[in-house]
Amino acid sequence: MGRSPHPKSRFVLWILVPLAVVFLSSCGVFGGVASGGGVYAPAPGALTISFIDVGQGDSSLIQAGGENYLIDAGNPEEGPNVVDFLRSRRVDELDGMVSTSGDADHAGGLSDVLDAFTVENIYVSGYPKETMTYTNFLRAAQNEKSEGANFEEVHAGMRMEWGGVDVDVINPPPASGEGLFENSNDNSVGVILTYGMARALLAGDTEKDAEEYMAMGPYTGPLTVLKVGHHGSNTSTTPLFLSRFPPRIAVIQCGADNSYGHPTPETLERLGRAGAKVFRNDVHGDVIVTIDKKDVKVEVQHP
Ligand SMILES: [Zn+2]
Repeated sequence: MGRSPHPKSRFVLWILVPLAVVFLSSCGVFGGVASGGGVYAPAPGALTISFIDVGQGDSSLIQAGGENYLIDAGNPEEGPNVVDFLRSRRVDELDGMVSTSGDADHAGGLSDVLDAFTVENIYVSGYPKETMTYTNFLRAAQNEKSEGANFEEVHAGMRMEWGGVDVDVINPPPASGEGLFENSNDNSVGVILTYGMARALLAGDTEKDAEEYMAMGPYTGPLTVLKVGHHGSNTSTTPLFLSRFPPRIAVIQCGADNSYGHPTPETLERLGRAGAKVFRNDVHGDVIVTIDKKDVKVEVQHP
């Protein structure tokens, strides 16, 4: 899609103070954006979420407390791009990997990541998906398991701890309870990360029904960061969902000129009405959000 590779430096687009909601729209506020070198360790004492530009697909890297977790890796051809990005962020091995769904634009690149890195924990949705991409991923995951990795289906109600960040799984429902949704997108794994006062919600391609399920659950409240559902499709980011999870920052993972028309004008309008500052991979390239005790900083590849 004509995307440029990850550059040697990124721009700080803006920062905000979470509690006071002070917006400082300026470039280079931090002055210390590294140049040259090309490898950037995540900031210590912070939660960093990198929304990797994988074109039309999802991939995010979560780094905190010296640990590294990857959620999805875009389409199969994006695998090497994701591996490069991880190396550029000083990732030597992954403490965990989440496959939110079996769709190619989420699970496609995961096999390359499994080839390149040791992965300690592999988390998947329990929804069966017999695509060739997912079968390849499961085969690679099985190899990793035989070398000692933990492989686990996750569902709402489970809690993990990633380098000092509390991680609550909020979707899909436990199969023994409400059961899985009929629409495959609605069975995407959804998580809320809580770090101090900050909260980030990432829920793959979930649409209306799963959004309603999450909105009726016990995890509602304002968000620092929302990874917008299903690439900004009009079938996600419903008014109910936004009213229960009002986001300050919204990141849309979509490709330039994608054939789906993502993000839709309706979704952008709803996010705007909710007061969210929107970042998009198709416009900004990689989007890196760093949350420390005081500030939230957003760095983008293309300002
Ligand atoms: Zn998708």
